[in-house]
Amino acid sequence: MSASNTIAAGSVVSIHYKLTLDDGNVVDSSEGRDPLSYLHGQGNIVAGLEEALTGQAVGADLKVTVSPEQGYGARDDRAVQTVPRGAFPPDAQLKEGLSFQARDEAGRPLMGTITKLEGDEVTVDFNHPLAGQNLHFEVSITEIRAATEEEISHGHVHGPGGHHH
Ligand code: ZN
Repeated sequence: MSASNTIAAGSVVSIHYKLTLDDGNVVDSSEGRDPLSYLHGQGNIVAGLEEALTGQAVGADLKVTVSPEQGYGARDDRAVQTVPRGAFPPDAQLKEGLSFQARDEAGRPLMGTITKLEGDEVTVDFNHPLAGQNLHFEVSITEIRAATEEEISHGHVHGPGGHHH
């Protein structure tokens, strides 16, 4: 496999990044860590950022604003549900703001956040915490290499910054 100069489907891309919301709050950053490595063209990162990185080269610094539609989706009021307290383990320390892992009907992992506790009723928001937000990314591209056949068949990156089996 030859090294690629620009980002295309099948590139393994390493980036340093900072994610800021409209209110200026930094919610994620690779500062002080290894760069994030991902497999381009597989939806491993949000669609709007992946699109902006296509065709870019090592050393490029980008500022990209991603709309909710190209990011973590619009907020969905139907994803806010009220469940009985008995749906949680008896020893669970429930409190507003608590996030926990659940599964949807298809068994896919889902993050829920408790937004209200009232008597026997627990209100849970299953929207992604960044749903409905504009995402402001600052990205520097540190490395681009061609993915191995194994990485392409798995749909993710192996080795440093990626998946370890
Ligand atoms: Zn793998």
